[in-house]
Amino acid sequence: MADERFRRARADLVAQLEYKGITDRRVLDAIAQVPRHRFVGPEFARLAYDDQALPIGHEQTVSQPYVVAFMTELLIADGVPEAVLEVGTGSGYQAAVLARIVPRVFTIERIRPLHRVARALLAELGCANVHFRCADGGRGWAKFAPFHGIIVTAASKAPPPALLDQLAVGGRMVIPTGGESQCLQLICRDERGYRKERRMEVKFVPLITCSPFSTTR
Ligand code: SAH
Repeated sequence: MADERFRRARADLVAQLEYKGITDRRVLDAIAQVPRHRFVGPEFARLAYDDQALPIGHEQTVSQPYVVAFMTELLIADGVPEAVLEVGTGSGYQAAVLARIVPRVFTIERIRPLHRVARALLAELGCANVHFRCADGGRGWAKFAPFHGIIVTAASKAPPPALLDQLAVGGRMVIPTGGESQCLQLICRDERGYRKERRMEVKFVPLITCSPFSTTR
């Protein structure tokens, strides 16, 4: 019964996202399928299908569904990348949405308890194409680079150089930059270099730079 109620709430959320301008069917279908109420604590489950960011503990948040949809739509607008690197796993919600669209997702989180909970939940939900790592995502994941898609869900002053390096030629990166006031940037790489476009104002938690030994255990 509760499941049916959540399914209806999800369908209403999808309608709201369409109204707000999201048009990509693949993104809307993924959002219609991923149970966002499982990605927040039980006390927030009834708010999970409102279009708002919610706390996930450790002073972090799962982004507003509209922002997840907008970033995903932007990332795949030029074709679905074979593999996407996500920096900032958080609850795992964005990774679960991507997993329904992209063949392989690589996601990195620096806070170990968040990393563990997200990994277990996505395994339970059957997202076998998502690969997890607990580390500083600002350094990327060299072993699987280059990536045709990179999505960063925490804000930094400027795009981390390692991520720019690990973006494939022909690839796209979606990343919030700035401090108090932030802007979502689309960075496209071609043979001549990087082309940057500003897309919209956003508010993300900061991307924390850490040494290989300082991830939270
Ligand atoms: N995409 C997430 C929302 C993430 S909030 C979701 O769908 O729920 C941003 C996350 O980035 C936080 O969990 C934070 O701990 C993480 N983060 C911040 N700096 C990081 C870094 N350098 N490397 C990896 N993760 C980082």
